[in-house]
Amino acid sequence: MNRDGLLVLTPLAIEARAVRSGLPEARVVRGGMGRAKAARAAASLELGSSRAVAIAGFCGALDPSLRPGDVVVATEVRGPDGVRKLPSSTMLLAALAGRGIAARSGPIVSVDHVVSGNERLALADTGALAVDMESAWLATASDGRPLAVLRTVVDVAGRDLRTHPLATATGGVKAYRSLSRAAPALETWAAAAGPRRVLLAGPRSFCAGVERAIEIVERALDRYGPPVFVRKQIVHNVHVVRDLEQRGAVFVDELGEVPEGALVVFSAHGVSPQVRDEAAERTLRVIDATCPLVTKVHAEAKRFAKAGYTIFLIGHDGHEEVEGTTGEAPEAIRLVEEHDDLEQLAIENPGKVAYLTQTTLAVDEVNTVVEGLRGRFPSLSGPGSEDICYATQNRQDAVKALARECDLLLVIGSENSSNSQRLVEVAEREGCRARLVDDETGIDPAWLVDACTVGLTAGASAAEVLVERVIEALGDLGPVEVEERQVITESMRFTLPVELRSDVRG
Ligand code: SF4
Repeated sequence: MNRDGLLVLTPLAIEARAVRSGLPEARVVRGGMGRAKAARAAASLELGSSRAVAIAGFCGALDPSLRPGDVVVATEVRGPDGVRKLPSSTMLLAALAGRGIAARSGPIVSVDHVVSGNERLALADTGALAVDMESAWLATASDGRPLAVLRTVVDVAGRDLRTHPLATATGGVKAYRSLSRAAPALETWAAAAGPRRVLLAGPRSFCAGVERAIEIVERALDRYGPPVFVRKQIVHNVHVVRDLEQRGAVFVDELGEVPEGALVVFSAHGVSPQVRDEAAERTLRVIDATCPLVTKVHAEAKRFAKAGYTIFLIGHDGHEEVEGTTGEAPEAIRLVEEHDDLEQLAIENPGKVAYLTQTTLAVDEVNTVVEGLRGRFPSLSGPGSEDICYATQNRQDAVKALARECDLLLVIGSENSSNSQRLVEVAEREGCRARLVDDETGIDPAWLVDACTVGLTAGASAAEVLVERVIEALGDLGPVEVEERQVITESMRFTLPVELRSDVRG
């Protein structure tokens, strides 16, 4: 894909020099200062083989927290003739971060004269981070090609650059150095530009257990009002947690942080009986958002333990679901994390053993461990039906169905999401490069170089809107052809706890 097709537009000669000092090979075109020159330059520009355009230069801060030399990346450019949104700015930020450069991102507004005093305050009130005099007009030169706008701060908000020439000169030196340092990131961003195909894995995103858990917290907030305490993350996703926090949910690690008598929701991953006992002792009002498929595993653990079995629980040490299930029968359960653990298993009664699994593991790996267990313990019993849940299985099958066609697979999900991590592993086992990202801001443009076909999925705890945001960011780097590969249609729904159902008032 494109490595050499970057055209950098700068207003002034000094800005062009700063860019060239950081990017000696780049094609840099100087457009001149102000609206008229920028518009003329844009109209007469020959883009040639350029496949991505960047506008780079200095700016004035509107946000009072910006200091001289700070790097600003535009999420949109506002001008008198409209707004140009720049969804791939997140990838320029990632490229800058990769070079150790912390940048701010937000709207940049272009005006046709130097602004100061109340006029500048009024611009700041619009939410724009910074102001310049060319970007909106230079942007028209991109002619539909991917566009990035990177500016470095010369003068701070509230200081008139005409009445503070010394501070402006000092700010100019800092802005020059920052622009020179930041310029190579433009090349990294531009290298990701180009047309590509996106293969969407289906099913993806929320499962029935996650939808139910989120709805439980939302309904609890509606019915009882904030705060609603939630023990642990309701589901393992930073966006879900942040959204619910904004609505009044308070996430705690342990029940000791919840005031006596308050309302607490148990997360989708389930809790041990010890946690339930503690809630009762502290007279907490409990709503249980444990996924019914996790509850089923708890029931199996109790059944096997009662019948005198030793239970091998295949799962990840420290995961909340494993802690909850283990709490049902701590004397009987032995954790098995991987096939290698089988070597060390010494059991008193090898004729009475059973296995259970965490619901969100990689299906193939579980099968390998179960086969190993069966090899050692031929009378091994298992759950009535497999514990790996339908959503985990379906999302892994969907990734398998397309991974071999992809140059890169992006999995949307949080670091602590087990099922999302497994999707990465499933793709890698199919020979596909895969990366886990919380959203479009986590995409490093370097991953996209030569990635003509990108697979896209989302873990069971990641919202579909995040998939749309990633597609939008990719689409800002060039034409994107989206094709969905649906391996199965899901219709599973779980009922809400009785106290939150609309037909039952609590
Ligand atoms: S991934 Fe499966 S077990 Fe976990 S919440 Fe979703 S449906 Fe329930």
